Amino acid sequence: MNTKETKIKLLEELRHEMLVCHKCPLSKTRTNLVFGVGNSMADLMFIGEAPGRDEDLQGEPFVGRAGQLLTKIIEAIDMKRSDVYIANVLKCRPPGNRNPLPEEIIICIPYLIKQIEIIQPKVLCALGAFAAQALLNTKAPVGTLRGRFHDYKGVPMMVTFHPAYLLRNPNDKAKVWDDMKKVRDFLKNEFT
Ligand code: URA
Repeated sequence: MNTKETKIKLLEELRHEMLVCHKCPLSKTRTNLVFGVGNSMADLMFIGEAPGRDEDLQGEPFVGRAGQLLTKIIEAIDMKRSDVYIANVLKCRPPGNRNPLPEEIIICIPYLIKQIEIIQPKVLCALGAFAAQALLNTKAPVGTLRGRFHDYKGVPMMVTFHPAYLLRNPNDKAKVWDDMKKVRDFLKNEFT
């Protein structure tokens, strides 16, 4: 079990490694690297897709409209944004917010895997298809994956809809609420 100081140091080393990563062309078009943010001792870690415009400008994940909704989702399970850790599959913005390409995911995902290994969360929550499919190595749609815990290298991983999808499909908010209650109850039952 890494101590807080060790985790902060390892995350900082990883961030420095990524700052000089030019393994794919996205490093040329980005404004900022969007490494990840939050509590290095977090029990709960959220995984999104890729930075959008606001995230690229600010260098922090989930700070735009979808991010504001994610903050509300976190608060709905009685946690604060600063309690959890938030990262994306891709750390650089795809131009025009296009979908991540398969080769970009293959190149970038080792960084996310290292972040998960350093943080050692008790629960993961994949937001949307790209995070879920990349970590579970499946092509199954998010609609069939969501709502239950999957196993990511021994760590339970909830899959739910991406907040940007929810902004377009507010009728599915209740499903995300159901999924998040499962995360809340898991953390409550297992670790208190
Ligand atoms: N969508 C994501 O998947 N990640 C972000 O950081 C912002 C929007």
